[in-house]
Parts: sequence; C-alpha cells; structure tokens
Amino acid sequence: MAKGNIGVTSDNIFPVIKKFLYSDHEIFLRELVSNAVDATQKLKTLASVGEYKGELGDLTVRISVDKKKGTLTISDHGIGMTSEEIEKYINQIAFSGAEEFLEKYKNDAQAIIGHFGLGFYSSFMVSKQVEIFTQSHKEEAPAQHWSCDGSPQYNLEDTIKSARGTDIVLHIDDDNKDFLEDSKIQELLTKYCKFLPIEIAFGKKKEWKDGKNVETEEDNIINNTNPAWTRKPADLKEEDYTAFYHELQPMGEDPLFHIHLNVDYPFNLTGILYFPKIKNNIDMQRNKIQLYCNQVYVTDHVENIVPEYLTLLHGVIDSPDIPLNVSRSYLQSDANVKKISSHITKKVADRLAEIFKNDRPNFEDKWDNLKVFIQYGMLSDEKFYERAEKFALLKNVDNKYFTFEEYKTLVGENQKDKNGDLIYLYANNADEQYSYIQHAKDKGYDVLIMDGQLDVHVVSQLEQKFEKTRFVRVDSDVIDKIIQKDDTKQVTLSEHQKEALIAVFESQLPVVEKTNFIITFEQLSATSNPVFVTQNEFMRRMKEMSALQGGMMSFYGEMPDSYNLVVNSAHPVIEKLLLDEETACNQKTAPIETELSELKNKQEQIKETHKGKKDEEIPTSEKAEIDELQKNIDQLTTDKKSIYKSYASENNQIRQLIDLALLANNMLKGEALAKFVKRSVEMM
Ligand code: ADP
Repeated sequence: MAKGNIGVTSDNIFPVIKKFLYSDHEIFLRELVSNAVDATQKLKTLASVGEYKGELGDLTVRISVDKKKGTLTISDHGIGMTSEEIEKYINQIAFSGAEEFLEKYKNDAQAIIGHFGLGFYSSFMVSKQVEIFTQSHKEEAPAQHWSCDGSPQYNLEDTIKSARGTDIVLHIDDDNKDFLEDSKIQELLTKYCKFLPIEIAFGKKKEWKDGKNVETEEDNIINNTNPAWTRKPADLKEEDYTAFYHELQPMGEDPLFHIHLNVDYPFNLTGILYFPKIKNNIDMQRNKIQLYCNQVYVTDHVENIVPEYLTLLHGVIDSPDIPLNVSRSYLQSDANVKKISSHITKKVADRLAEIFKNDRPNFEDKWDNLKVFIQYGMLSDEKFYERAEKFALLKNVDNKYFTFEEYKTLVGENQKDKNGDLIYLYANNADEQYSYIQHAKDKGYDVLIMDGQLDVHVVSQLEQKFEKTRFVRVDSDVIDKIIQKDDTKQVTLSEHQKEALIAVFESQLPVVEKTNFIITFEQLSATSNPVFVTQNEFMRRMKEMSALQGGMMSFYGEMPDSYNLVVNSAHPVIEKLLLDEETACNQKTAPIETELSELKNKQEQIKETHKGKKDEEIPTSEKAEIDELQKNIDQLTTDKKSIYKSYASENNQIRQLIDLALLANNMLKGEALAKFVKRSVEMM
C-alpha cells in the first residue's frame, strides 16, 4: 500500500475548498457525473479506433445512495485508471500560486473550481471521506483503491474489482446529509445532467401498483442523450423542435419560431433558441435560456452571453468555448463571449428577416406575440433597430399590417398638417376609443393600434427616427385639430356666453376620483358631437411613462388625470341650449352683472392711483377698500354661478350631454351610469 501527500503547495486545500465553495457545493455532483461521462466517451473513442478491443457492455453511468452507510456512489464503465494515472491525475494537482488565487476569488466558487480543474476535489465539499475503486481498461493493470479523508494524505492500494471502470464513493459528512435524500439527488441530476450524452441511471423507475409506489425492473434514466440541438437541422422536423421545447418547458405553450444555432468558427456554438408566446408580464419570461458546455448544464443566467432583450427567448446554448466554471466578471470581459453575443443577435435578426420575406402571412399572424421581442431589441440595440426596421410592423385598427415604409406611403400625403408634419394617429383601445376612431376614419384617415407593453416607448423612438412625424392618440383632441389642415374656425361665443356655458356645464360635472375636467370650446361642424372628452397627448404620455418608470417621473404620476370637456359651439343643440339658458337666466343675472361691473370699475380706479407706488406708500384704508370690493365681487360671482347651477340642475339635457360624452370615452361607470340610463328612459 502506498501512502503519500497530495501534491498541492498549499498545506491543506480541503478546508479551503469546504469553506470557500460553500455556496455552490451542489455542483460536486455535476463534476463527478461529467467525469464519469468523459471516461465512458473516451472508452468509446478508443473502441472506435480499435485501441480497445474488449466488450463495451452496458455503459450506463449509475448513481446510488446508501442511506445506512451514508454514502453516495457514482459508477461508470469507462476507461478507468491505473495506479500511475491516479498518481498523475488525482494526486498531482498542478497548483501554482494557489493561496493567492484562492484569496482573490474566495467568494467565487466557480472561478476557483475552473481555475484549478478541481472537478474531482469538489467532492470534498460534501464528504468526510472519498474513495475511488477503479479498474483500468488496460486489463493487465491491477484494480486500485484510493482513499482520502480530507487531509492532504491519501492511501492507494491494489484491490479486486471485476468490472471495468470507476466507482467514486462519497462518505457524506454530517453537514450535508440532504445529499443522501433520493429527491435531492433526483433534482440535481435533472438540473445538471438532463442532456448528457451517456445514459445516467438513478435507481429504478417506480409505478403505482395496488395503491403503492413500487420499483419496476426498468432503470430510471435521467437524461436524453441525443437532444435536438446536437442533431443536424436537416434531420429535424418542426414537431421535433416543438417536442424539444417541451422537454425544456413542460408547462409552456407551443413556441412561435425556433432558431437553430450552429457555428464552428471562430468559436464553437450550437443551440436552439425559441420565441415563446409572451404573456402579459415580460419579466416572468426571463432566465429560460440554459447554457451548456458539451451537454453539461452550466447555468440559466445567460445575461452576459446574450444581449438583454434576447434573454426573453427560451432554449439552449451549448459552447465548449465558454468555460464550464466561469465567473461573471470573467464572462463580461471574454472576447469569445462578446463574439457569441453579437453572433446570436445577427442570427436572430437573420431568421426574422427570412420568415418575413418567405412567409409574410405567417409572420403577420404571429406578430402580436412576437412584437415585444422585436420592439425591445429595437429600443435597446441600435444595430438591431437597423435590421428590424425592414420587417417590424405597424398594425391598424382594421388588423392590417404594414412595414414602416408601407405605412408612410399609405398616409404620407393625406395625414400631413398645414405645417407639413406627418401625423400618425393611434388608439390603444379600439373599443374605448371607437367614436374617435370613427371620426378619424370619416375624414379618410388611418388609425394604428398601439396597445403593447412597450408601445409608449416605441412611439417616442419612432418620432425620433422618422422625420417630421408625430404620433397622436385619436382621443387627444378634435380630429381637425390633431391634423390641422388650415386655420380652424374661431369660436363665435362672447365672453359672457362662454362664462355662462362654463358655469352651466361645470355645475353638472360628476365627481371622478383623481380626475379634472377643463371646459373648452370648439367651432366644429354640426355633424360632430355637441360635447366630447379629450385628453392632452403630452400629459397623457408623461403619465404613462411615469407609470412604467417611476422615480424621477413620479411627479407626473401623482397628478390627477386632466381631461378636456369640449363643447362644440356650432352644434344646433348647443346653440339652442344657449338660447334657452339666456332666456332663463339673463333676467336674474343682469342686475348682478351691472353691480359686478360697477364694483370692478371702482376697484380698477383705486388700483390705477396706486400705479408706481410702493406698497408702504399706499394708505391702509385704500387697501381695505380693495379687499372689501373683492369680497363683494366674489360673493356676486358665487351668486351668479348658483343661478346658472339652479338652471342647469333643472335641465336634464345638460347632464345628458355630459354623460353621453363620458360614455363615448368609457368613463361613465357605476352609479353615474345607472342614473344616466334611468334619466334616458324618463326623457323618452
Ligand atoms: P478534469 O475533469 O477537469 O480534468 P478532475 O479533477 O475532475 O479534472 O479530474 C482529473 C482527472 O482524473 C481527469 O482528467 C481524468 O483523467 C481522471 N478521472 C476523474 N474521474 C475519472 C473517472 N470516473 N474515470 C476515469 N478517469 C477519471
């Protein structure tokens, strides 16, 4: 029996491993199983070139747990090791500057393992003792038993082992007993070994029999040894891609498209990426690309490898050029990784362009689900924008799709205003904004539908990209003002008439929480509505942005929604209402008006004498008089308003006009709606 010290310069590497690698210690299983798989593949290679002439036999790698003995065993029938090989590969770990490196990366287990090729030694993270039983494929070499209890000292002796290959036996330490639970091991194997190229068995399959879960004869195979991404695209049908997607996302809906990646220069990369159907919340979709290294699972955090917006894709990337054990900081700076990222971007754009070109109906069909990726990409990556502007689509309220170029041709001349600005009209809810859309259509205009999660940002981006173009929501103003062709007609109402109408309508406005109404006038055609509601484009966008971003913008978010209640002074109903109001109120308001104008004149006269004087030069008696006059003016104004109010509350028509306007804007709800219905019936 040989005894010796493991060749590390550091006195005792194991406490270091245990301490520093604590957080990631489950990866020991990945390391040991991939060693077993490597050893098996090496044997197959030797056999295929005729260097190994024996029977290959069953090559399944088997994992077993013995709870009583407290051991976890990984067994393979691979090439095995001779005593010399153990000496070379296990005992002599090539360390240089070990301590220094460990100090630097003490919080980054992946880096440490990667740097030292400590794969096998990671078993000491969870074990108080590790044994190797191995029989080399070179039959003349005696089987070996190696054992080590976590000190730098090991034992190595000849032993008897009939089967070729290696058993690694871990005596799990007290802190890590959960690695003796079947469920834990099953979970880890499924996570790390699902697509390894050699079959991995963990116990036997179970089935329900007579109300009990009993073991069958059949091996419980963990992995698919031949996953779709390792096969040639020519050998795969659409169904195969979909089936593979469901291996990755058992609960997911069928994906929209796939992209099969296959690169061998200047780096090796294979994989399949899928465009999933995106539901409401895009953040839920992230971290569904898995990174593999030669079919060994590495991570599902690929944000340093693929551009941000592509982390919305699902699927698999496999590259031996991305080291298995990498630290985040390393990934960010690695030149290969950067190339991989830009390559994937290009591939994704190519594939979309290809589908758009060859199968536009299919592309349009899927656009609604696809657009969030494309828009996200366009918003975050200028290069991608340049590619995507040729196939990105705009959809109108009639569900027709246009490229940017096509849409410009469609509306280019018709929707230019008198300043030569091209106005893109859009709605974000075709039902709620129905009447506004109808008005625009009546004018021969086209209306886009912009109801996506990112459309607020897209609108801003396109306004910057397109020349002399503005996006305006159909309900933000009267259509003739949104696209102003010539100078609009002046409102013919006198100030007094305006004041009266404002008071009349204001007094009947319902109270809507966090909502303000401003009453304005427009001289529109008699065919336009008499009263309607609009919302200023700028204010609305600010609020929408603030809802998405928070922070700096939250000032806008706090503000109440401000709407215009637009009164069409040219509408016969309004003309009639005005007449009616004047007949009913003028007699009562006339004496107040006279008195008001006297008081105001007086106030003005006094103020006139104060011009050029400093505050302290004005006698207090005069200041008091101004205040007194103001009080009276305020009182009379209130009186006047209450005359209008009492008139308005007797006139069902005013409330009816307001309610109709709110209704057209989907703002009439609850009790107000019920009252409206009742009133309408009564008025019949
Ligand atoms: P790496 O796998 O990165 O080379 P490890 O520490 O995991 O580093 O393993 C060191 C070496 O030990 C391997 O390269 C291989 O030669 C040998 N080895 C480990 N496990 C086995 C095994 N199950 N069968 C045969 N050889 C093995």
